[in-house]
Amino acid sequence: MRRGVLLGLMPVLLVLLSARADEEPFQGFTRQTSATERDWETKFRALPSAEKQREYMQRLTARPHHVGSPYDKDNAEWILAKFKEWGWDAHIETFQVLFPTPKERVLEMVEPTRFTAKLQEPPVSVDPTSNQQNEQLPSYNAYSIDGDATAPLVFVNYGLPKDYEELERLGVSVKGAIVIAKYGNSWRGIKPKVAAEHGAVGCLIYSDPQDDGYFVDNVYPQGPMRPTDGVQRGSVMDFPSSSPGDPLTPGIGATADAKRLAVKDAPSLTKIPVLPISYGDAQPLLAALSGPMAPRDWRGSLAIPYHVGPGAAKVHLKVAFNWDIKPVYDIIAKIPGSEQPDAWVIRGNHHDAWVNGAEDPTSAQVTMLEEARAFGELVKQGWKPKRTIIYCAWDGEEPMLLGSTEWAEEHDKELQQHAVVYINSDGNTRGYLSMNGSQTLERFVNGVAHEIQDPETKLPVSQRLRLREIERAKSADDRQEIRQRADLRVQALGSGSDYTAFIDHLGIATLDLSFDGEANSGIYHSIYDDFYWFTHFADTDFVYGRALSQTMGAVVMRLADADLLPFEFTDFADTIRMYTKELKKLAGDERDAILERNKEVDEGLFTAVNDPRHPQVAPPKEDVPPYLNFAPLDNADDALALSAQRYDAALKAAWAAGPLSAATLQDLNQKLTESEHRLTTPEGLPRRPWYKHMIYAPGVYSGYDAKTIPGVREAIEQKHWDEANSEIVRVAKVLDNERALIDSAAQELEAAKH
Ligand SMILES: [Zn+2]
Repeated sequence: MRRGVLLGLMPVLLVLLSARADEEPFQGFTRQTSATERDWETKFRALPSAEKQREYMQRLTARPHHVGSPYDKDNAEWILAKFKEWGWDAHIETFQVLFPTPKERVLEMVEPTRFTAKLQEPPVSVDPTSNQQNEQLPSYNAYSIDGDATAPLVFVNYGLPKDYEELERLGVSVKGAIVIAKYGNSWRGIKPKVAAEHGAVGCLIYSDPQDDGYFVDNVYPQGPMRPTDGVQRGSVMDFPSSSPGDPLTPGIGATADAKRLAVKDAPSLTKIPVLPISYGDAQPLLAALSGPMAPRDWRGSLAIPYHVGPGAAKVHLKVAFNWDIKPVYDIIAKIPGSEQPDAWVIRGNHHDAWVNGAEDPTSAQVTMLEEARAFGELVKQGWKPKRTIIYCAWDGEEPMLLGSTEWAEEHDKELQQHAVVYINSDGNTRGYLSMNGSQTLERFVNGVAHEIQDPETKLPVSQRLRLREIERAKSADDRQEIRQRADLRVQALGSGSDYTAFIDHLGIATLDLSFDGEANSGIYHSIYDDFYWFTHFADTDFVYGRALSQTMGAVVMRLADADLLPFEFTDFADTIRMYTKELKKLAGDERDAILERNKEVDEGLFTAVNDPRHPQVAPPKEDVPPYLNFAPLDNADDALALSAQRYDAALKAAWAAGPLSAATLQDLNQKLTESEHRLTTPEGLPRRPWYKHMIYAPGVYSGYDAKTIPGVREAIEQKHWDEANSEIVRVAKVLDNERALIDSAAQELEAAKH
């Protein structure tokens, strides 16, 4: 048995060893420039300090620091001073954004009994910052509209479209009701959006202990999970259907004199009032529901029978907000490039938090600061990056990516011209390297991951990740792919952090990296996400913080120093083919499901199995979808794969023949920088033109989760069959433009003079 396991691992180890061979030059470097780069990277790797990260975290999380708070500004000035101390050319760029804070929050049950919700997270005696109540933002959902409603209550599971289909089968309508949804399984803003679409007049969102409470682990302060009265704050701005950033200045920078919409005209505010609550406050409300039992997989871990409602339970929800304009402070710091100052490698992480925010975002803000300190040190020692490095500590990420989106919108033209890559993080803990972003950088980031040592096992982080993925794989086919494919897959980006404007709106190649997967956490967006919690339950000795600094630093250095930018297209073409296969399966499954259900209706199945004591409504028959025409996409995929191979072969041959001329390199780098932008269209996605990228977007009905080839995928999911066909044609055209660019780069390499 043991022997078999070892034999099974052999191909993996061989791949890893051959890829690690030290004499192999880094991708995009000659033998000589690679050796120099390796020396500088080795010097860099020794610099980030776990102890300093702990110090920075203690300082940055000492007080609540949400947008508009005194300590948010104080932190911004402290971060600015640090960058300057380390020799960076740094300044603060300020934007003026709409940031609502609670004026009034009332939640009470008025029938059949009276109960008033606490809506208050109590301090914990061992935790020294949990009692800063004067500075803590109360628990609320930002960009909920003001509202006052008294209505029957209905439990809607996670509040997703398919949950409402089940409610319909149970004969339950939410029209005129207040819904209560569980946190999780989608981005939170989807819940009030779908509730409003079904006629609800208010929305409560609670944290069920099954998802991040005692079902998972001990609760705080005995363990890392959410206690009875812990509440998840968070934004419910409808950014997937419109755009993130300041709701009053969509598409433009929210400078002091920008032209603003009136608050009532802002398209991204919710349509109904929303309030997040703890399971302590939710339990009496849920216990008062009657009506049908909730389907088995809707039920959580509270010791109550979960009914759907409605029934006698009637609740009163009232929320009112201060609709203020507040400043956000982005710290922008530069090291100018020595050879190509007009090519920018950009790295960012936000500094604002909902409350004290140790895990989110300070755990990765401190890794970014240690990268910055180390780069300052290297510059003193004589390191001169070829390209300009720009570090950004964003403000206002939590309300909805305010600081990064406004900066990207304000500087859109320069960024599209000069930005090579945007590299993001937003929190870090213990575990495995999580690699997300543009698959044109998949080979590159795999290369970096070979070089970084896991602090616990001392394995290269890429090797540890590969073995973890084999452990987690669902099928023998998946395991085989993970063992045999040279590169681990980089996952597509949806949204939920500051990379959104860069990739989705501007079409700049993007990476988002962190370590996670080994530490339970149930304090997200609560007052308990603080220094005490982090240093007891997360990356307590900051060794994964150091590993993330080492990883990010290598990514930034190598992109800033490469002779030829390390973009690569065979992994990208392989990924596009995989997405196309998924889309075909989705369309087929959708068609089969409708055919089957129609047949069951005709057979009288739903009438026959209906239990008159627990009646259910038969689903309606639906039009059978037409077959879609995937041929344009298939043809584009094939052509793209051929061009990708051609570029790869031309690059290897040209590189083997000796260094390329400066003029050729400059030209190729220009084309490679443009490659992500080629995946966008000026018109953007159907009904949401701010989203220009045709391969990646957040889901209109999932939020943070990525929808790949979103125009086609969402048309299928939403049964817009004509649109699916026309989007296939648009995506094929974009891929063909990309192919043309790759071909022209390959041609240039084939003709290159050395
Ligand atoms: Zn964050």
